[in-house]
Amino acid sequence: MKNIEIDGLCFGTLISKEEISKKVKFLYDTLLINYKKKWPLCLVVLNGAAVFANELLQNIGSEVEISSLKVYSYKGLNSTNKITVDYIPYNLIKNRNILLIEDIVDSGLTLDFLKSELTNHGANRVECVTLLFKPSKYQYEIKPNYIGFNIGDEFVVGYGMDFNEKGRSLKNIYKNTIHKIN
Ligand code: 5GP
Repeated sequence: MKNIEIDGLCFGTLISKEEISKKVKFLYDTLLINYKKKWPLCLVVLNGAAVFANELLQNIGSEVEISSLKVYSYKGLNSTNKITVDYIPYNLIKNRNILLIEDIVDSGLTLDFLKSELTNHGANRVECVTLLFKPSKYQYEIKPNYIGFNIGDEFVVGYGMDFNEKGRSLKNIYKNTIHKIN
């Protein structure tokens, strides 16, 4: 598959759309088994997880509650190490079991923040399904409950994930191969 360029950075294919679809189906089947009695409230972590959540939840049925929240910590290729909250639906979370739907867990800062924030506002239990996980960057003991792919310490775009808000519509997942020179 061919390389692509976004804002002067070069990206090569890391995971094809076929591999992604197979994994998303596997994750859905696993969730279906584990939540067969009662699905938790699904909270999609925007913007990056929108595409993953759309494919993951497409067959879930009308009884499951799905909402979203929006937080961010990345600027360009790097984490700011600071979480900015745009929107959290605090009115929905009291006494609820929650499944966070994440595109990618890197250092774990966002996930750790969200777990504390939701628990402090009355959530009962907070679990997480993430499509991608960077084990070498992760700084916490408890890993996400459901992980699609483990990847290396690389910056990725596509399938909802961006570089400078671009690349979200790419069907495959790409990794940065050559850094910008100028
Ligand atoms: P963490 O808080 O775990 O360090 O980072 C989680 C958030 O950072 C993700 O939800 C995502 O928005 C962003 N992020 C981390 N790694 C990458 C990456 O390789 N590519 C993109 N596009 N975003 C990333």
